[in-house]
Amino acid sequence: MPNWTRATHDFATNLLSALLPQSCFVCGGPAGAQAVCADCFAEFPALSEGLCPVCALASPQGQICGACLRKKPGFDATHALYPYEFPIRELIHGLKFDADFCVPRVFAVALRETAKRCLADCVVPVPVHPVRLAERGFNQALLLAKPVAQSLGVPLFRDALVKDRLSLAQAGLAREERLRNLQGAFRAQRSFAGMRVLVVDDVMTSGATLCEMAVALRAAGAVRVENLVLARTAAP
Ligand SMILES: [Zn+2]
Ligand SMILES: [Zn+2]
Repeated sequence: MPNWTRATHDFATNLLSALLPQSCFVCGGPAGAQAVCADCFAEFPALSEGLCPVCALASPQGQICGACLRKKPGFDATHALYPYEFPIRELIHGLKFDADFCVPRVFAVALRETAKRCLADCVVPVPVHPVRLAERGFNQALLLAKPVAQSLGVPLFRDALVKDRLSLAQAGLAREERLRNLQGAFRAQRSFAGMRVLVVDDVMTSGATLCEMAVALRAAGAVRVENLVLARTAAP
């Protein structure tokens, strides 16, 4: 779609969603111009207190967890907004299959708030393989990364990393298999010399993808890598 057509389309979509009352994605009640009504939004699940600052899994008193102490992941810190459960899981699923779905707007305020705690000179969304991108038409991590970069006032490097291989679908693979599946999956297309990089994604599961991203970023000169994810799954 040419740029001006997309801009007109975006404008029309925004105007329509502002004029037409939406029904809440969670309860079906009136939600104004939002995807989720205020009541359901207020009841979004929260992550438990005390998370490992490196991998964002539950850890007593928020100490670095045993797994991260035994083997430090490629990244330095992970900031997660929500547990990966109802209705966050369903909202993210909607985001993957419908770019116009207003999920980024639902989460934008929380994303901006969390971004304030991140140390970053630039923001990088987790890329999707070109084949998947062609099937889907957009990268859902990029939709989330935009408001984050804006609020931090740092550049967004959207195509800075490429996914080299079309890895097998990660779901259903054991952690070891996931890591093997991702070996060398990412390659940086630019220098990150001396930079602190904030990587944005929708869901963090085993952390294997983010670990490989961090390895590629460090290989390109990054001095610090933090993750900002919308949702975190519980420990396996
Ligand atoms: Zn509702
Ligand atoms: Zn940890």
